[in-house]
Amino acid sequence: MTGINKVCVIGAGTMGAGIAAQVANAGVPVLLLDRAADNGENRNAIAQAAIASMLKASPSPFMTAASAKMVEAGNIEDDLARIAECDWIVEAVTERIDVKQALYARIDSLHVPGSAISSNTSTIPLARLIEGRSDSFATAFLITHFFNPPRHMRLMELVAGPRTQPAVAARVENFIDRQLGKSVVRAKDSPGFIANRIGAFWLLTAVNAALDLDITIEEADAIGGRPMGIPATGIFGLLDLIGIDLLPLLRDSMQALLPPSDPFHAAIRPLPIIETMLAAGTIGKKSKGGFYRINREKGKSREAIDLTTGLYRAAIKPGPVAADLRSLIAGRDKQGAFAWAVLGQTLAYAASLVPEAADDIVAIDRAMKLGYNWKYGPFELIDRIGPASFTARLHAEGAHVPAFLAAAGDRRFYQGVDDELRHFGIDGTYHTIARPDGMLSLEDVKRTSRPLLQNAAATLWDIGDGIACFEFTSKVNAIDMATLALLDQSITLVAERMKAIVIYSDAANFSAGANLDTAVKAIDAGDWDAIEHLLGEGQRVFKAMKYAPFPVVGAPAGLALGGACELLLHADAIQAHAETYIGLVECGVGIIPGWGGCGELLHRWTAFGDLPRGPLPVVARAFEIISTATVSKSAAHARELRFLAPSDGITMNRDRLLFDAKAKAIALVENYAAPLPPTFRLPGPSGHCALTMAAEGFHRRGMATDYDLVVSDALSQVITGGEKDIMDVISETDMLALERRSFMQRVRDPRTRMRIAAMLETGKPVRN
Ligand code: NAD
Repeated sequence: MTGINKVCVIGAGTMGAGIAAQVANAGVPVLLLDRAADNGENRNAIAQAAIASMLKASPSPFMTAASAKMVEAGNIEDDLARIAECDWIVEAVTERIDVKQALYARIDSLHVPGSAISSNTSTIPLARLIEGRSDSFATAFLITHFFNPPRHMRLMELVAGPRTQPAVAARVENFIDRQLGKSVVRAKDSPGFIANRIGAFWLLTAVNAALDLDITIEEADAIGGRPMGIPATGIFGLLDLIGIDLLPLLRDSMQALLPPSDPFHAAIRPLPIIETMLAAGTIGKKSKGGFYRINREKGKSREAIDLTTGLYRAAIKPGPVAADLRSLIAGRDKQGAFAWAVLGQTLAYAASLVPEAADDIVAIDRAMKLGYNWKYGPFELIDRIGPASFTARLHAEGAHVPAFLAAAGDRRFYQGVDDELRHFGIDGTYHTIARPDGMLSLEDVKRTSRPLLQNAAATLWDIGDGIACFEFTSKVNAIDMATLALLDQSITLVAERMKAIVIYSDAANFSAGANLDTAVKAIDAGDWDAIEHLLGEGQRVFKAMKYAPFPVVGAPAGLALGGACELLLHADAIQAHAETYIGLVECGVGIIPGWGGCGELLHRWTAFGDLPRGPLPVVARAFEIISTATVSKSAAHARELRFLAPSDGITMNRDRLLFDAKAKAIALVENYAAPLPPTFRLPGPSGHCALTMAAEGFHRRGMATDYDLVVSDALSQVITGGEKDIMDVISETDMLALERRSFMQRVRDPRTRMRIAAMLETGKPVRN
């Protein structure tokens, strides 16, 4: 299968620009076309403005500023013929069939056979889109429905029509999966595809139920969020996030496209509250408020809309909600009634969509988990409730029971048999869920094996081929004595009978770093020995890992902060998910990296820093990164910051991370030799002086606080080599001793305790 080497995106709005940026993030050149600007000389102004505004956005759709250089702006009047240069043409223009069809007519005459064409439409069926088009166009055409924002939303629904050449769809799917890193779900050519059809039904049903049962939006979100495995934003919080204006748009297009027999229509009724909010322009986070708002006139207090009056009032903390789903829906109170009204109807609706919207339940569950961040898909939720009791309750209430649900009877939708997970199919039998090539799931390993080692903070698994996987299991994957102890035991075990370790977690974030909770307790108890012991143990175990006789590969995704970043810097290699946010953030809480992070970062900048010769440029760069607690905005940015070495890998698709990390470990096994300890030549007191002057400059300009100066001085003492100077060779052990000394000085300062406590409470550093 030939690859995709250049892409053309047409339509530089929210979605088109975002898709173009993600293609650029993958290192593939992209031509971004919009209408020709009719005022002024610059006919590419629209697409250019889209690129410029993405560079300014935070978070930016671009993973690094350099990726933006991969995007070339153009316009469809002058540049449409250049689609001939591209292997894939993505249309993301306004959601209007006439606009899309007119554009396709032009593409039809210019398109070169062999390239793929796709639409990002949210609702228009493929069959309608290709009306009147040539065979060459129709066989190259498919729908690729990305979610907003394309960089961060993992779901991409792919619809191939009866005329789409399977090889074309497979080629686009492969590119979107491996290079753009999206989880591709194959959907049928039905209105709204999977996620938005169920998602819109769910949101409308929940709003209706809240109104009918007269419950507050806070209560609705507390019931409709966490207990159902749905993000805490629940229903109204989510509407604020996506924009309340989108709900009527989605509702109206579903209403227009779905046949009258579809249960969706029953969820549609006048919603004066939403009309009022649209008229007032309170449409959620992108405006001055939504169902919730922060009232700045009243001391930034949080307010919520009263669904009966439509007026804002102070937010009310909802009462406790049963955490267990079955007890929640069984409840005879309002909470139970609301939970059942939402789940009963939504899950039954999802069950009615097999096989209309998707061939199997796996596609539906994945679409809801990836597109709406549900922890469990609809069928996993039915399994949790119990399929028999779920269906019996629908029957008892005289509700419609979809045929597929009736066919399942009391059988569960998912079944673990031996090593396999199976799903219930429309033919009434179970089918193995095949993992695509290049995907390894720790969930699968857990279901079919026992841990090699385990304690309260971490677990060691055998992931095959002699490779062990070290998994964090503590809260926010924080690292403490128990984590270090298990890592220590893991090193011994792997040295004896396995080949390599991959350090990994399925969680959204790799690790928040050292456990600050225990740190504050030790500070409050004045137990400095305990702190120093933890510091020493971290240094010892990380070094043991670094010099172990086998390779260690770190596989982070999401946040990898402080101590977790230091752990990764001690690995032989890193295979990072593209969305990895890594940094030595210790200074933010008043300490300095004490588990070897200072020396490791210095070493990386020395080895592949591309800086002018001499020790000061390296030291100055490391000082800047550590003292400002810089966190990478992506793995590509982490490479620029040298948290990643040039030989470290980046995996675009989260589902492929563990597989890629394991492959990297296997590749390192043969002829493995542990690294030689680095030595350092550092500028000593004169370098310290230079850094102090720089820090004082920041302080004078109000960019650093009084205590920032003290902390950065402690850091500066370490990374300039303390009392040694350029003539002395400093060993790794010397560096560790310098770290320990500076760390212990800072940790005893009450201003450090204040910073740590604030971080634990608010998640933000205090600027004391
Ligand atoms: P948008 O309004 O932000 O952008 C549309 C862009 O298309 C504009 O820049 C417009 O100038 C341009 N355009 C219009 N006609 C054109 C033409 N003939 N040739 C070239 N450019 C033209 O819209 P959007 O939100 O980015 O949506 C684009 C598509 O993606 C729609 O089909 C929409 O349904 C779909 N979609 C949107 C979202 C979302 O959340 N916004 C999510 C998934 C899919």
